[in-house]
Amino acid sequence: MAKYSSKINKIRTFALSLIFIGFIVMYGGIFFRNSPVVMMIFMLIGLLCIIASTGVYFWIGMLSTKTIQVVCPNCGKATKMLGRVDMCMYCNEPLTLDQNLEGKEFDEKYNRKRSK
Ligand SMILES: [Zn+2]
Repeated sequence: MAKYSSKINKIRTFALSLIFIGFIVMYGGIFFRNSPVVMMIFMLIGLLCIIASTGVYFWIGMLSTKTIQVVCPNCGKATKMLGRVDMCMYCNEPLTLDQNLEGKEFDEKYNRKRSK
């Protein structure tokens, strides 16, 4: 079983690390105080990272509207799923819509029954 967290958590981690990278890059710019142009470039890159992370957070917000609430069979908590296969946000239990397909409005697209 692959060890990874749910997609939304993963994107959230990515957005958070972007903020950190942004601050580290901006902090790095301080070492180039003597050349304002280089410092400006560092500050700009750092700022871009932070702006990008804001964009990613916005994207998470958009994605959250597309998630499906399911009750995790393992820990019993209501978790959000993105796509056909995702992980529980609390216990990383792998969840599949293929198993829990019970007349959810979603299935048409993803539920490809093996009919060869
Ligand atoms: Zn769970």
